[in-house]
Amino acid sequence: MFFDKDKYIQYANKLLNSNLISRVDFLEIRFQEDQSEYIIFKNLNPEYIDNSIEKGFSIRVLYRGNWGFASSSVISENEVQKVFLKAMSIVENLEEGKVSLTEEEVYTDEYIQDVAINPFDVPLNEKINFIKDIQNEILKSKNIDFSDFMFLAHREKKLYMNSSGSRIYQERTRIDPSFSMYKLKPELTVLKSNTHPTAKGFEYIKNMNFRNEILKYNEQINEKSKAKSVIPQKYNLLIDPSNLWLTIHETIGHSTEMDRVLLYEANYAGSSFASIDQIGDLIYGSEKVNIVADRSQKDGLSTVMYDDEGVKTYEFDIIKNGVLTGLQSNREIAILAGEKKSKACSYADSYSSFPLQRMPNISLLPNKDKDLKLKDMLSLCEDGIYIVGDSSWSIDMQRYNFQFTGNLFYEVSGGEIKGMLKDVIYQSNTQDFWKNCIEVGGESTYSLEGAFNCGKGQPSQVAAVSHGAPLALFKDINIKNTQNEN
Ligand SMILES: [Zn+2]
Repeated sequence: MFFDKDKYIQYANKLLNSNLISRVDFLEIRFQEDQSEYIIFKNLNPEYIDNSIEKGFSIRVLYRGNWGFASSSVISENEVQKVFLKAMSIVENLEEGKVSLTEEEVYTDEYIQDVAINPFDVPLNEKINFIKDIQNEILKSKNIDFSDFMFLAHREKKLYMNSSGSRIYQERTRIDPSFSMYKLKPELTVLKSNTHPTAKGFEYIKNMNFRNEILKYNEQINEKSKAKSVIPQKYNLLIDPSNLWLTIHETIGHSTEMDRVLLYEANYAGSSFASIDQIGDLIYGSEKVNIVADRSQKDGLSTVMYDDEGVKTYEFDIIKNGVLTGLQSNREIAILAGEKKSKACSYADSYSSFPLQRMPNISLLPNKDKDLKLKDMLSLCEDGIYIVGDSSWSIDMQRYNFQFTGNLFYEVSGGEIKGMLKDVIYQSNTQDFWKNCIEVGGESTYSLEGAFNCGKGQPSQVAAVSHGAPLALFKDINIKNTQNEN
């Protein structure tokens, strides 16, 4: 399939320059193509392969304070006019609504994310053989009885134009290789690979040193299968970015979405304990906690140069020295909160999806004064638990009381790793947890992790998002044991 953007620009211009749109207050048209691939391997066999591509366009009109929205998978000059009339027919007879938008700049620009190997240019056979080789290597390990491998890739192309005169074309790619390994005796032990999704091409997986990693996994799963069950009590926790990213996503990412704060959106992730009047006052964490939102961050899964309302993305503070300083917004939500500019957080997951306010890359900043490394952080932890990798979690609908588990848990004693623990859950509430963050590691401990599949809205949409963090140390966090949890 070919994304014929010059032709689409002509179709859109024909509509934008016609009398048809003279009655609308604002109009945007978005042509979009999404290609995705999903490969699952169980041991040496491909169990599921899906490669899909969808392409089409949508038109959103703002008319007397209401949105009208329609889309089509057929792209032609005629269809553009038809879809416009359909969007208008939805709002024409409605009572006056309340939607208004922030004033934003007009742009003509193009952003094509730099990718060395487009994953969709790599033949399926080559990918299958590549994964099979890795699986073969994993299954050679004497401690691993079973392994599954998941490979996801996504590439999106978007042409956005609006009645203010913006015309923006963007292309981006992301990839997510991960695998889980199982040891069946003496009891089932599961180990997840220490991999994470990123906005890169196939070169990302090609350049990984799987052989070395697999040797490490072989040792780790053996040690994990013999780990001591944790004694529930309060511990100092040293948390690796591979675990902390998810806690950031759930306790900071979702609770600082302005639409949730305004109770405008509560699907899936609920609302938020925070309120608009607390911006600038709410003590969210200790002064070590500095959180930024950034859709322009290199390799970030939500990184793009312009959002789906044509607003240029930029870095902004969410939490500065522990205090809540900003929320995520789009053009419509920012106005509701009395702000003059959008934070460029609009995103639609397909041509036929209505753009929603979605999460930018939200990250905990590393220590800028001292480059504290794992060794330094362990010694500051003294006695406690070092947690690596994510696993299951739960949080209440106000994004407040939560519990998270992990992939690996190490006992820390006298500032050194003493062996592995198991059955660990950490439990706290958002403010107590972040207030107990007593130190963050240096730049060299920072890692950008994330996920492809944050869900929001009805009908539901998925979005990929990254969260970066350094190692971080929390004091006196409640630990429960998964085996005797009441
Ligand atoms: Zn989410």
